[in-house]
Amino acid sequence: MPLSKGPELSLMACILKSAGGPTSPLEMPAPESGFLRLERKGPMARPPATGRPEAALPPRLWSCIVLALLTGLVLPPPCPDAAATPGPDKFQRSRARMAERQIRDRGITDPATLRAMAEVPRHLFVPPKLAARAYEDLPLPIGFGQTISQPFIVAFMTEQVRPRPGVRILEIGTGSGYQAAVLAAAGAEVFSLEIIPELAQSAASRLKNLGYTGIRLREGDGYHGWAQEAPFDAIVVTAAAEFVPPPLLEQLADGGRMVIPVGSPFFVQRLLLVEKEGGKTSTRVLLPVRFVPLRRPR
Ligand code: SAH
Repeated sequence: MPLSKGPELSLMACILKSAGGPTSPLEMPAPESGFLRLERKGPMARPPATGRPEAALPPRLWSCIVLALLTGLVLPPPCPDAAATPGPDKFQRSRARMAERQIRDRGITDPATLRAMAEVPRHLFVPPKLAARAYEDLPLPIGFGQTISQPFIVAFMTEQVRPRPGVRILEIGTGSGYQAAVLAAAGAEVFSLEIIPELAQSAASRLKNLGYTGIRLREGDGYHGWAQEAPFDAIVVTAAAEFVPPPLLEQLADGGRMVIPVGSPFFVQRLLLVEKEGGKTSTRVLLPVRFVPLRRPR
């Protein structure tokens, strides 16, 4: 996919092909670590895109705007590159209701998880035409045959991995970037891998524009994890594997927790909690779930 020039160029540095992968224009190492850390900055400067074409303005209105601009009455449009902090928006009430009814009332008690779910603007992580449905009790398509999970599942997995400041979490399957944003909003340092280049790229751009810090993204096959950054205190896999990938088990720190859906892509899978303690792993079934499959490169 061709990359546009301009503000998006900086996001190219966010995404690097995994070691040994084919080279592409995305390979643009950032200084120091080789990855751009996405920084969270100032207040929201731009309303969410609606995807609707803007209506043509009547000539008289145009002359009023020109006059107002000349007299300093109209502020110039916000800088499109400015970072945004989730805050009041037209979906705030739906989001608060979602966090209360779908998340808290169904038994999620972890304060950091509840706060993050009430804060992260899910409507900006789905295609604009689905924004109005972003706070419904549903998974939604995000393109390329992939889906953003139902809010409850995101919250459930988040609570299981206990995100806190100082906790390093690996996510497999960045998708829209929503789960990564929720983990980061709960205070964790997040490393996220995505196999579909276009999704990796758009998630990097979205997270950067929304100003999330503490998230590092990489394009590549999550089956192998992210060895250079291991060990991780927790691992969240958001695509269904047929078995727990051994490299992920290796990269889980002692005392660490991994949540992973395991099972056939075409049937109900089981969401597992894998815990590592004293070098031994134990596994518990948490929930029946249905996730898109963990893909493997051909
Ligand atoms: N967590 C995402 C949704 C996940 S959907 C969100 O919050 O939006 C599952 C994602 O896993 C898809 O984007 C899919 O492309 C990705 N995926 C599938 N197999 C993968 C693999 N082997 N490595 C990395 N990502 C993978």
